Amino acid sequence: MKPQWQTRYRSVSHREYAESYDALVVGAGPAGIMAAVECARACKSVLLVEAGSLPREKSCGGMLNRYSLRALEPYGAVPECMVLDPRWITFRYFHMDRRVKKATNVRFLNVDRTLFDAWLLSLLPENVSVLAQAPVASVSQTPRGVEAYVRVRGEREPVLLRASYLIAADGPRATVRECLGLRPFDRYLTVQEYMRIEPGALEPCFDCVCSHAFPREYGIGYLMPKGPVAIVGSVFYPGTKHAERKHEEVLEALKRTYPLGEAVKREVWMAAHVRRPADLVAGQGRILLAGEGGGFLSCTSGEGISFALNSGIRAGKAVAAAVASGERDADGALARYERALAPMKRNLAFRMAMFPFMNSAWGKDVACVIPTPLVSKATEHL
Ligand SMILES: Cc1cc2nc3c(=O)[nH]c(=O)nc-3n(C[C@H](O)[C@H](O)[C@H](O)COP(=O)(O)OP(=O)(O)OC[C@H]3O[C@@H](n4cnc5c(N)ncnc54)[C@H](O)[C@@H]3O)c2cc1C
Repeated sequence: MKPQWQTRYRSVSHREYAESYDALVVGAGPAGIMAAVECARACKSVLLVEAGSLPREKSCGGMLNRYSLRALEPYGAVPECMVLDPRWITFRYFHMDRRVKKATNVRFLNVDRTLFDAWLLSLLPENVSVLAQAPVASVSQTPRGVEAYVRVRGEREPVLLRASYLIAADGPRATVRECLGLRPFDRYLTVQEYMRIEPGALEPCFDCVCSHAFPREYGIGYLMPKGPVAIVGSVFYPGTKHAERKHEEVLEALKRTYPLGEAVKREVWMAAHVRRPADLVAGQGRILLAGEGGGFLSCTSGEGISFALNSGIRAGKAVAAAVASGERDADGALARYERALAPMKRNLAFRMAMFPFMNSAWGKDVACVIPTPLVSKATEHL
């Protein structure tokens, strides 16, 4: 399905960009788009730079939790055309060896992620320019602002762009984070297989599947219906070799349990593997980090859209407030952003503390025997 929203932003290409902007935003995922939307309220000129082409196709389950929906409320209703059948999906644990299923009260809106990302682009106002197919190669800070070298299609050499502030929302690749000399995080490898299904063949559940028979490097497996297909996902710990082959082994086991038809598409991707509260970094000086690039995603559930939206909105608002008040202090926007992020950091640090238990074979066995309402309550916070 093709995206069908009018966009208002100015798409720029080779040599159409200015040398200097009030704000430069790196990465056109949910964090970067929301950051650009918010900082454009006070900045005259905002450039959003994206490494890939737009609209993009990112591998994702497309599960929007209530925090994502709440974050989006002020920007308008989520368009119906991106919602897939079944509309609402319940989160459920499934221990295959013990044949135990525990459905929780956690629900997701089931959306097409490509359409969702395209719709977010339509929220960008006219004073945001967008430069696609232009990966940022490096960033540095000067006494008055930020400089970024960008590889622009059609240019032989990287182009130098200047800005008063930079918001890095470059996802798990996290190039800007590395330029700041921060500890790079490891990355999970993810494989998503799209399998045909008969209408109504699967229950409206996001099954988080585990079995002692799955490969050692297997972090988590999941399966959910999405219109005419089911997504079967495998998440592997960093450094896993032959992940696709191991994914196929698990897929064979799942095919014996679920009525899955032929495979139609496979995606191999990555996700940040953030384990230490110290890896949650708001930024440095005039550079703010948002979304997965700042480490803001749930290590227990892998859910990242609400954290991307909420951190992007906060980063954009912090820059807008600094620009609107004519602040000269280099750290003013960052200090505001740090304050706004504090509850999110505490929430994510709590998840990190719970992760070793949740992730252990022991933890998964315990989840089978404790009462379902308790499992459900715990899942709401994780
Ligand atoms: C397989 C999989 C399934 C998932 N399922 C769910 C789900 O169902 N629900 C959920 O809430 N979360 C899910 N997530 C997590 C969620 O997709 C991410 O956490 C979320 O997209 C992060 O948003 P972001 O804006 O921080 O980064 P991204 O969405 O990763 O966007 C970053 C953007 O930056 C661009 N970029 C990277 N480097 C550069 C550079 N140097 N210069 C310019 N641009 C650059 C990239 O091309 C990309 O477009 C899933 C993740 C994976 C991998």
